[in-house]
Amino acid sequence: MADETSLSIAFEVLFNSINNGVVITGPDGLITQMNPALAGVLSVALRECLGQKPAAAFAKRHGLVDLLTKKGEQERQIMLPKRRLAVGIGMDLPDGGRIAVVQDITEKEDLDSRREALVDAIAHDLKNTIGAISGFADLVAKMGDMNEQQERFLKRVRETANHLDDVILPLVDLAWIEAGMPLRHEPCRLGILIHRAVGELSNLAREKAITIAISTQEPMPVVMGDSERLQQVVYNLLHNAIIYAPPEVTVAVHAYQQGPEVICTVADPGPGIKADELDLIFTRMYRSSDESVRGVPGNGLGLTLARTVVQRHGGAIWAESEYGRGSTFTFVLPSARLDEFG
Ligand code: ADP
Repeated sequence: MADETSLSIAFEVLFNSINNGVVITGPDGLITQMNPALAGVLSVALRECLGQKPAAAFAKRHGLVDLLTKKGEQERQIMLPKRRLAVGIGMDLPDGGRIAVVQDITEKEDLDSRREALVDAIAHDLKNTIGAISGFADLVAKMGDMNEQQERFLKRVRETANHLDDVILPLVDLAWIEAGMPLRHEPCRLGILIHRAVGELSNLAREKAITIAISTQEPMPVVMGDSERLQQVVYNLLHNAIIYAPPEVTVAVHAYQQGPEVICTVADPGPGIKADELDLIFTRMYRSSDESVRGVPGNGLGLTLARTVVQRHGGAIWAESEYGRGSTFTFVLPSARLDEFG
């Protein structure tokens, strides 16, 4: 057990250094403590608030005054200067005083509303427009006989509309991550993500009689990050390995820890990638002009998304290949300390 002096020093350090605003009132309702973070977000002088009643110190911030004056657990939105927004919680203290913790959520709110606006725009405008193009193309086809060229052009219209439909959501998703959408920060066991991605692709692999060989080190390497997004990285690499490789081959996924890093490789004995394309393939919408690739439907976004996600986790991703003999994709992430997670 830490002694009382250590605890109070630790409290002092935390109180003064955390990003969330904290303010405490005594049993008489007067402000006894307030941290620099709160003074900062409220644009007030810390010293002038101490010893005041909340209504006098934070006159215009009704939400914050409520948190410090109402009884029981309270939650409020607080309008901050410069059109910023915070949420706060308030609680009773055993001595009859109150404590309020305030978090500035302006960026998060902005981000959420931007994403909603984007998704709405896609759902209503783009998707409907594309639906209309396909619909009218179908109608024209039913209007009567067409010559061969007209039929060919109409087929192209339909194919292009379908392609646009396929590409919109991944493009928006990519734009969203590139715009800095927050990622989760939780311990992820890479082995579990690999098994999940393999599970999602098992039907596709079975259709081509492709075997997926998995080898992960025990205990499983752990990284801190967004498990859903990292699983998407593994999925995209494996999906490519399966769709571009010939039938009846084995695709290998390997994950292991090396020093401070976790390494994951996906190797296939497929067509391979020419040396001058090894970096280009990570560019948005880039697809090789190789025959073996052109015959396979795709949008050229999977690797761009994978690279963006890996880089946002502080890692790196690259491809190695012997053209005509296969490819190996490797991504590296900073590892979390294994002993922390058992
Ligand atoms: P998509 O697969 O939809 O085209 P990606 O961004 O996933 O988009 O891949 C970009 C390009 O990289 C592919 O079009 C292909 O030219 C090349 N590529 C990716 N993975 C492989 C692989 N395993 N073997 C050969 N080429 C690949």
